[in-house]
Amino acid sequence: MHDFIPVNQPLLDGNEKKYLLECIESGWISSEGPFIKEFEKKFAVRVNRKHAIAVSNGTAAIDAAVDALNIGPGDEVIMPAFTIISCITQIIRCGATPVLIDSDPVTWNMDASQIEGKITQHTKAIMIVHIYGLPADIDPILDIAKKHKLKVIEDAAEMHGQTYKNKPCGSFGDISTFSFYPNKHITTGEGGMIVTDDDELAETCRSLRNLCFQPEKRFVHERLGWNLRMTNLQAAIGLAQLERLDEFILRKRSIGARYSELLSNLFQAQQPLAQTSYAANIYWIYGLVLNESAGFNALEAMKKLADNGVGTRPFFCPMHQQPVLQRMGLFKNETYPVADNLYHNGFYIPSGLALTPNQIERCSEALYKIMK
Ligand SMILES: *Cc1c(COP(=O)(O)O)cnc(C)c1O
Repeated sequence: MHDFIPVNQPLLDGNEKKYLLECIESGWISSEGPFIKEFEKKFAVRVNRKHAIAVSNGTAAIDAAVDALNIGPGDEVIMPAFTIISCITQIIRCGATPVLIDSDPVTWNMDASQIEGKITQHTKAIMIVHIYGLPADIDPILDIAKKHKLKVIEDAAEMHGQTYKNKPCGSFGDISTFSFYPNKHITTGEGGMIVTDDDELAETCRSLRNLCFQPEKRFVHERLGWNLRMTNLQAAIGLAQLERLDEFILRKRSIGARYSELLSNLFQAQQPLAQTSYAANIYWIYGLVLNESAGFNALEAMKKLADNGVGTRPFFCPMHQQPVLQRMGLFKNETYPVADNLYHNGFYIPSGLALTPNQIERCSEALYKIMK
């Protein structure tokens, strides 16, 4: 029996150890350490933004971005149905209303053509979330936002190193966010980044990150913040990872291309789209969506693959299917059939940066085997 192939393994064999050792030897381990500023600076340059604010995780980055835009009671925020819960929690907690958009069946991203029909006089912002390695079609969304004077939040957690029409993801809209969870293209263990060109928004996010302490009267607060600080240890790893981003993207693309080649006769499942007119896939994860001819759903496929030594994860459960949100009375009688199909029939196979050619072959063989 072969070893089990985990769904993700990061690559940490660059300068990570060296920089971490510097932290320990210098005694700089908190958020005050020098790697934070260096990581922020280099990250901002990479995504072509004026400001970058390192935070404790990608969810925290979204929380702060939503709060910094002063989204609150009475406001509506347009967002995809098919995404992670991180996108919606602060919208709900601040008393605003999330308004969902179904996915495009081919790119799995929010279908921009459905946005305008959902705009009301209460709409305050659009949240773009790039899904699984291909960016959403940003330009039409920015046009709508401009026309209706809406703020734009871009969740680029899965888009490190990706571009839209040759411009970096994370450089669009008022404010963008990233995650450095270990399955993202670059990791800090846990971590996140907020980026923006707006001086005031950047200042607000810095303040929100640090409990809204004030420079003069430190323990007197004019606003409620959080402690979202990243440690110098995390930033040390992040810097080492960032140095290798181009290499990581090449690696991910070659993993994706190899899977697509090996799985070209797997007619029971839809593969990720390799290319659109505006971007080539960076395969954050290699997802598959079963069709009727498979004869079973994602849950069953994942069980069968586990029995064959292959790790998997399900696709996102769409927001309108979340029990916690349904119990709040949200999304009653609303349907998002594409998102539902992705949820029931979608899952992803091992796609991490440490994946070997041999493992890719074994995963592909297991897929053909379970389809028989
Ligand atoms: C991973 C992810 C997040 C959350 O990031 P964490 O660092 O895990 O909190 C948010 N949005 C998307 C699209 C993600 O993929």
